[in-house]
Amino acid sequence: MTSAIGRVPIGRNPPIGRVVVLLGAPGAGKGTQAQILSERLGLAHVATGDLFRAAVRDETPLGLAAKGYMDRGELVPDGVTIEMLLERLAKPDAQAGILLDGFPRNTAQAEVLDKALAEKGGQVDLAPYIEVPEADLVARLGGRWICRAQGHPYHELNKQPAQSGVCDVDGSDLYQRTDDQPATVQARLRQQLGALDLVVDYYRKRAVLTVVDGRKDIGQVTVDLLAAIVPAIGSRG
Ligand code: ADP
Ligand code: AMP
Repeated sequence: MTSAIGRVPIGRNPPIGRVVVLLGAPGAGKGTQAQILSERLGLAHVATGDLFRAAVRDETPLGLAAKGYMDRGELVPDGVTIEMLLERLAKPDAQAGILLDGFPRNTAQAEVLDKALAEKGGQVDLAPYIEVPEADLVARLGGRWICRAQGHPYHELNKQPAQSGVCDVDGSDLYQRTDDQPATVQARLRQQLGALDLVVDYYRKRAVLTVVDGRKDIGQVTVDLLAAIVPAIGSRG
C-alpha cells in the first residue's frame, strides 16, 4: 500500500518539523548558507545536488541515470529526483525539520513537495530567495572548489580554505566540479533560470517568499537570512 503521492509506503512517512526552502540560482550561495544555517537552526540540510553527486560517485543506478543530465547542465527528470527526495525525507533526522537546498527546481517539484509535506502534517514555512545577478554567478561558479567528503564549498578568491586544497571542516581534498566548467555553467544558467523564476513566483503567491540580497559578503547574507528565518520558525539557540 502506498501513500496518496504514490511511491512512499505508508509507515515510512513520519511527521516532519519546520521546513525552509532555500532558493537561488546555481552559485547564489545556497550550499554555503545552508551549511551554516542548518547547524544554527537545528534543521537537516538536504541538498539534492549533493545526493546526486554521491550517487554518481557510488555508481548507483540513480547516479548512472542522473549523470548525463548533470554533465549537460540540465535538470534531472522529475520522476527520479522526486523519488530520491521523498526517500530522504523519510529518514529519521528529517523529523526535526529540514533546510532544502536545490529542491524544488520547478513548479511540478514544488507541488509534489507541498503534497508530501501535507501528508506528514507539515508545510513550507519559509522560502528565502538568495538573489544574485547573473554576471556574479558566472564568477562564483568559475572559482568554486568543493570538498570531496561532504561538498563544503570554497572560492579561490571569496572563501579560501586555511590550507590550500584542503577542507577546513573535514580535511578532505578540494576539487572543481566538472559542471562548473565555463561551457556547462552557461548551459546550467540558460536551462535553469527560467524555471527558478517560476518557483519564486510559486512561493510568492503562497506568501512564504522572502528575498535576500545575495551580493553581500557571506557573513552578512547569513545575518540577513537569520533575521528572516528565525521569526518565521523559531531557533534552537
Ligand atoms: P549554490 O549552492 O547556490 O550553487 P555555493 O554555496 O556553492 O552556491 O556558492 C557558490 C560559490 O560562491 C562558492 O565558491 C562560494 O564560496 C561562493 N560564495 C557563496 N556566497 C558568497 C557571497 N555572499 N559572496 C561571494 N562569494 C560567495
Ligand atoms: P546543484 O549542486 O544544486 O548545483 O545541482 C547539480 C545538478 O544536479 C543540477 O545541475 C541538476 O543536473 C541536478 N539537480 C540537483 N537538484 C535537482 C532538482 N531538484 N531537479 C533536477 N535536477 C537537479
